[in-house]
Amino acid sequence: MATTLHHWLNGATYEGSGGRFSDVTNPATGEVSAQLALASEEDVNAVVAGAAAAFPAWRDTSLAKRVQILFAFRELLNARADELAAIITSEHGKVLSDARGEVARGQEVVEFACGIPHLIKGMFTENASTKVDVHSVRQPLGVVGVISPFNFPAMVPMWFFPLAIAAGNTVVLKPSEKVPTAALFMAQLWKEAGLPDGVFNVLNGDKVAVDGLLTHPDVQSISFVGSTPIARYVYETGTQHGKRVQALGGAKNHMIVLPDADLDLAADAAVNAGYGSAGERCMAISAVLAVGEIGDTLVQKIKERTVGLRTGDGTRGCDMGPLVTSVAQQRVAGYVDAGEASGATIVVDGRDPEVDADGNGFFVGPTLFDHVTTDMSIYTDEIFGPVLSVVRVDSYADGLQLINDNPYGNGTAIFTNDGGAARQFQNEVKVGMIGINVPVPVPMAYYSFGGWKNSLFGDTHAHGVEGVHFFTRGKVVTSRWLDPSHGGINLGFPQNA
Ligand code: NAD
Repeated sequence: MATTLHHWLNGATYEGSGGRFSDVTNPATGEVSAQLALASEEDVNAVVAGAAAAFPAWRDTSLAKRVQILFAFRELLNARADELAAIITSEHGKVLSDARGEVARGQEVVEFACGIPHLIKGMFTENASTKVDVHSVRQPLGVVGVISPFNFPAMVPMWFFPLAIAAGNTVVLKPSEKVPTAALFMAQLWKEAGLPDGVFNVLNGDKVAVDGLLTHPDVQSISFVGSTPIARYVYETGTQHGKRVQALGGAKNHMIVLPDADLDLAADAAVNAGYGSAGERCMAISAVLAVGEIGDTLVQKIKERTVGLRTGDGTRGCDMGPLVTSVAQQRVAGYVDAGEASGATIVVDGRDPEVDADGNGFFVGPTLFDHVTTDMSIYTDEIFGPVLSVVRVDSYADGLQLINDNPYGNGTAIFTNDGGAARQFQNEVKVGMIGINVPVPVPMAYYSFGGWKNSLFGDTHAHGVEGVHFFTRGKVVTSRWLDPSHGGINLGFPQNA
């Protein structure tokens, strides 16, 4: 009997009045594990009202107290990381070790947010003019909305909510309807950590919930992560409604391998970054650019590693799990069909994989294409599955051109032992996150995460100092303590003296 999952408001389950439900499935078995309540407009209003009511007290809670709660949340997250990882695997499908890694990367942002007293400090200038002092402060925005994708049920929300809460905002998180339980679990942890009710809320739902947040007058900002068409829509709609918006979109990440690279290390990296999380990472490598004469050797090395991967239920110690839904499985298999039909060489075919799982899971095995050209849909589209395409290019310059011509600009990597070439690459490439012999260059929490071009709408990346800036507004105060020498009338524009 499947359970029903609801929203989280004011520190408790909130059933809402939506009357619409969607299925949550275990991708490894295909079984429906829960029914998820989808928010109505009234539910959006109720949850935003709860968050708005909690804001004045939370905004005025001392930094010392806020930090204590953040530390408590961090400790609970640490203690219960395995439970959270198991939830992620049961709804997303990624293998347990990968889910555990996701929790750890999210936790880094919580740890960064524990330093909020330092991060939020203003500046002070004594005697800017005679006996006039100037100082700056940063204040929270109010109710902030976070809308997250299915592929990182814990980490992506944690790119935003720790800093938002630390800075004094109240949060409405709208998780992906495919993977809602991680958000509800983290809401419980916040309650146990002592966060006042109403500061962290979860609104489950689909487009109705998203549109409600984008247009609600009491929602001050939107942090969105998802596919590019929805990211663009969220950015345009949110900004039209006067909100501050950061909207991170899709990706098509290239790894360029120069002839001098260690090809064993490059092949390891391509396999890890191409097939990890079944390719359902916005930082997955999907195109390998083999420069010069190395193509045959590199493809052979990637093939040897790919055929050795074990695909199956993420709880069974496999290398790779299923795709998130049967729709995703069919879409990815369709791309493999299209790649074959368009003349690419299929080196490893994952369409009928041998899997270690029970039931009817949504599996596509690791798939490797060679001789892929830039007009093929397996090259042009974000597949978001375990499909790696090798494109042969004659030179570094040709490879760079392909990357810079791509409409996405999330991540990229270069594999080489030539420091000069790597330095030139990081200078010339039009991409937000760059790996030098690092295939998945996800920045640490104290830097900011974000791509260029169609991979990010808005100008603020996630977490790091940019995250602190996003969740706060600046004020500058100019002050003078009056004494008799300040008397007299002067209607001119104030000048320094
Ligand atoms: P998605 O765009 O389908 O969904 C993202 C969120 O938007 C979900 O909460 C969903 O409920 C909501 N949504 C979906 N359709 C909507 C609509 N028509 N109107 C309003 N809201 C809608 O993305 P997904 O499939 O959950 O996630 C995969 C995508 O996310 C990939 O494209 C991936 O590259 C991208 N992603 C990007 C980053 C990044 O940092 N740039 C990180 C993770 C994932």
